[in-house]
This record gives sequence, structure tokens and C-alpha cells, in this order.
Amino acid sequence: MDRLPIFLQLKHSSCLVVGGGVVAERKVRLLLRAAAAVTVVAHDLTDKLARLRDEERIVHHSGPFTHRLLAGMRVVIAATDDDEVNRQVARTADDAGILCNVVDNGAASSFIVPAIVDRSPVIIAIGTGGNAPVLAQRLKSQIEAWLPARIDALATQAGRWRQLVKKRYLSMRERRRFWQRFFDGPIAGHLLANRQKKAQHALRLELIDNVMPHASSAGEAYIVGAGPGDPGLVTIRAQQLISRADVVLYDRLVADEILDFARKDAELISVGKKAGAVAITQEEINELIIAHVRKGRQVCRLKGGDPFVFGRGGEEAQALAAAGLPFQIVPGISAALGCAAYAGIPLTHRGISSSVTFATAKLEGNLEPDWATLVRSGQTLVLYMSLGSVAKTAQHLIEHGLDVETPAAMVENGTTDRQRVLHATLATIADEVAEASMRAPAILFVGETVELGKKLSWFAGYSDTPGFESNRDLSWHRELPSSNLVTAVI
Ligand code: SAH
Repeated sequence: MDRLPIFLQLKHSSCLVVGGGVVAERKVRLLLRAAAAVTVVAHDLTDKLARLRDEERIVHHSGPFTHRLLAGMRVVIAATDDDEVNRQVARTADDAGILCNVVDNGAASSFIVPAIVDRSPVIIAIGTGGNAPVLAQRLKSQIEAWLPARIDALATQAGRWRQLVKKRYLSMRERRRFWQRFFDGPIAGHLLANRQKKAQHALRLELIDNVMPHASSAGEAYIVGAGPGDPGLVTIRAQQLISRADVVLYDRLVADEILDFARKDAELISVGKKAGAVAITQEEINELIIAHVRKGRQVCRLKGGDPFVFGRGGEEAQALAAAGLPFQIVPGISAALGCAAYAGIPLTHRGISSSVTFATAKLEGNLEPDWATLVRSGQTLVLYMSLGSVAKTAQHLIEHGLDVETPAAMVENGTTDRQRVLHATLATIADEVAEASMRAPAILFVGETVELGKKLSWFAGYSDTPGFESNRDLSWHRELPSSNLVTAVI
């Protein structure tokens, strides 16, 4: 972080704006919104600044900037159209230890004015370190659109009830629970819908009449799908529950950016197993979830993809149900869907494939999948956990009647910036996967629609981050004439 964002109390504080043009005028208005005592030093003022002076809302010093004008100032903004003057103001302010912003010159500024979403008392400041002001503006309008109307009223009401809530709930955890109920439940719903009376009534019921005594201290489990990798594919519901949880039990495939949604004080526990390391068993995971829920915690069991697609979420739900504990299940984008989309492989396609099957060759014990049903024509086949068994899988599919020329593609690290997509046929896929040294997680697509991925590939998997530089050298796959490794180039 290059700069620390802070919210400065400037009420009645003396602030100086150097310059009297339209840019200065904008800064003056901003400072006046924060109730600062503003002095403008400039030879000439815009009409609007002149009016503010006439209304005695600002003080005007007609003349050049001198260091004496800095006496008693908390903040200075240099907003003239003369670079040299602006720089001199910045230097002088710096020497005097006064915060100074030079308009359009982040490097010369000790502070930068962010783009602001103002729904006071909710204020959101957005900065790009001066790199991309237009991006900051764009983010600002996206946030404006996303923020519920009356979020200001919601925050104000919360402020009014804070003391009472503090008295009513003595422990931090109870208080946090209350506020979670407040913001997620009917009270916030009433306030956002401008139903003040109903909101007050619901609040009074809980806080004064004690209608919901301690129901809140019960724990709960959320079995949540985190999607295939790209943090942008996490659902809003998943994000809300991750950020609400006291404990997050997460799989190895869950990206750090997704774990970042968790509260700073949440306990993060990895229950993933790396190949070769001693695996924590499913039973142990179930017991861990149950133990935390019994302690009254909100437990988020965060899983790659979707919890109910080769995710053993069903077993966790069974264990919770058997223990009589409450739980919720949040779907996620399964690897088949995410990887297909990011590799441009339609799972069904009019005239080519009218059904899709999610399967795995990796079954419990010595069980084999029902190969005969997997080779039906006109369907797309998606095989999870298929990397280790790709040769065997291709062989079985061919033996059960699929053409050796059937298109097949392996997607490694799908939807992430390390995504690789290898196109081949059933006859060649195993050798090419080995040749390309593909690693888990990888998923196999088989069927005629896979061919479309060669044309519809749109996602550039290779990142510019230094760790992946070596991957940018794609010469290795060009040496394989039959191989067809697709990476979209932006
Ligand atoms: N519940 C998960 C699947 C867990 S099984 C889901 O719905 O996606 C783990 C397998 O999922 C891996 O072996 C691999 O086949 C697949 N997988 C998960 N994430 C993947 C990714 N980003 N790219 C490719 N395959 C992935």
C-alpha cells in the first residue's frame, strides 16, 4: 500500500486553496462539505467563488501565495494552472509539516483526494494511487449503483441504537450477532424500504421486550461452494456468509482472494490435502464442523466448485442433520461449468449435443463407472479428477464404442490466470497431457462440442505476474504438431 487512506476531521479547521479557477472551485466545495474554514488565495475568482466570498462562506486573499499564508493551516490544496507555483506551495507546506495536495500531481502531493461516494455517514473513498483516475471514477459509479438507497438512514439508525445494544449485549460476540441480524434481517429490510415504524417496533421487541433472548448464540454451519477459482465467480451469498463466519474451514483449491472475504478475526482452518501429505479424513472434517457449531460459532465450510458435485457436501450435511444442528447450503459454479465457459467449450450445443454428464473415473474401492452409459452419442462428457486416469479413461471410452477421433480437451487450473487448455482426440489425449506435464486440478471434456473450443477460446490464462513468466514461453507446445493448446491472446 503506497498511501494510507484516512478520514480527516476538518470541521472548522483552517484550510487554504491556492488558485481561483474552476478546479480550485471544485476543491473549495469539497472542503466546505467537510465544514472546513476555507481561505482562497488568488488574483481572480470564478463567479461562483466570488459569490461564496460575498456570502462570507470563504475568505479571499487577493494576491500571490506567500509562506505567511500557511500560518495555522491544517491542509493546503495547490490548484493554480502554474506548475511552478503549485510546486512551490507544496514545498513550503511540506517544510511546515502541513498536508498538501497538488491537483493532478500525485507525486508532489503529500495526500491525494480520492474519488468519493458520499452517502454520509457512509463514505467510500476510492484511490488508484494516481495511476488511473478514470478507473476510480468508474468504480465509483459501480459502487453507487450497487449501494442500496437509504444506506445512509440504515447507518444513522444503527448509530442511534449503538449504546442501547452495548448495554443489552455484554459480550462482543453477542453484539456482533445482533448487528448481523440487524443488517441481514427484517430490521434493515424495513429501514431500507423506509418503513421506520416497523423497524423501530422490531428493534424494541428484541432490545427492550427481550423477545429473542439468546436464540442468537446458537451456532450454524454454511456449506458453501467457492466456484472453480476465479474470485469473480463467487456468488454474492457465498461472499456474505464467508464474511460473516467465525470459522472458515477451507479446501486446498480455494484461492487466497476468496479467503480474503473472511473477517480479520475469523479462524481460518485448511482442511485440504496436498498430494503425498497425510490426508485429513472426511469424518475428521465432519467432526471439526460439528465441534465448532456446538461451541456456538458460525462455521463456513468453504469448498471448491459446488458442494454437491463431487464435493462431499452431502456427507457434511448428513452429519450436521444427524447432530441436529442448523445448516445452509450455497451452490457454487462447478468446475465443469466454469472450465467449459472459460475454455469456450459449450456443454450442450444445438444439433451437436443435447445432454451432458458429469462423471469421474475415480470411484471408491475398485468400482468402475458405467462406461456403457458414458459413451452414448450426442452427449458431452465431463470427467472430474481425471488427470491420473486419463489414459485408462480414454481407453475404456474407445473400447465401449467412442470414435478414436472424438475431440477431447483437458483444462488445467480453469478460470484462473494459470489456465491451460489442451485440445486433442481420445486417441492422443493421454500422451499430450503427459507431454505438456499437466497438473491437478484438471478436468477432461469429451465430445463433439469440444471442437468448438478451438474457435470460441476467449480467456487469456497466462498472467503477467512474474511467477508465471516461464509459462509465457509457449514454444514447447508448438513443437507438438498434433497438439492444440489454446490460449487466447489479448
Ligand atoms: N466440488 C468441485 C469438485 C471437487 S473434485 C466442483 O464442483 O468443481 C476436484 C476436481 O474438480 C479436480 O480433480 C478437477 O477435476 C476439478 N476441478 C476443480 N477446480 C478445477 C479447476 N479450476 N480447473 C480444472 N479442474 C478443476
